[in-house]
Amino acid sequence: MAHDRAALFGDADVAARVATKLAALETTRFLRLVVEDIFPGRIALVSSFGADSAVMLHMIAGIDKALPVLFIDTGVLFPETLAYRDTLVSGLGLSNVITLGPNRDRLAEEDPESFLWASDPDRCCHIRKVLPLAEALEGFDAWITGRKRFQSGTRASLPLLETDGDRIKVNPLADWTMQEIDAYLATHGIPRHPLVAKNYLSIGCIPCTTPVRPGEDPRSGRWRDKGKVECGLHTQALDGVPLETS
Ligand code: SF4
Repeated sequence: MAHDRAALFGDADVAARVATKLAALETTRFLRLVVEDIFPGRIALVSSFGADSAVMLHMIAGIDKALPVLFIDTGVLFPETLAYRDTLVSGLGLSNVITLGPNRDRLAEEDPESFLWASDPDRCCHIRKVLPLAEALEGFDAWITGRKRFQSGTRASLPLLETDGDRIKVNPLADWTMQEIDAYLATHGIPRHPLVAKNYLSIGCIPCTTPVRPGEDPRSGRWRDKGKVECGLHTQALDGVPLETS
């Protein structure tokens, strides 16, 4: 099969030229191509409704308000995030926002005091974020993220498209700057997450999110001083994660 695909699409040079053409497209045009023509009915947006999420949500609302938007409520999010989600869903007219959450039995067994984040943050992220999303993405061929290169050193070479096991992960804002994000939100009159005004430039769970100091990367407030920089959604192929359903 892989050989057949290579014969159909050509060599690495062809792939590189296609990638260059796609990267040259204006972001909403690229997004429309991906949603409507390449993965129709088989793609979802995954959104944290965090500091910059409104840009991608606004673009998707302009293309298909019923596109599945997957939101992971870990159970320890800021109340401001939940309120912001409701504000954006209503304001943008999004009709298919699906809230995911950790398995209650697993939480009762492994994290009954909601304190696993302190003793084993990787396992905490796994049961509260990775497993719910891995399960929800079954049936989709691709998913869209809102990640940007400027967010941290570990995302500095983020591509527009990447493989995620057998799925494709799409990062339409990969080369956007913070200034472009700010300008887009201002131009379209979109409200910011209320915690941005308090210097929370990347917003996750309450126990693992702190404000960012002047000069720091936007994501430096996440898992501060814990030696952890990613939750696990983007460090492994989610279609290869055992779902631990028993
Ligand atoms: S970010 Fe912190 S609280 Fe949230 S799932 Fe990960 S370790 Fe747990």
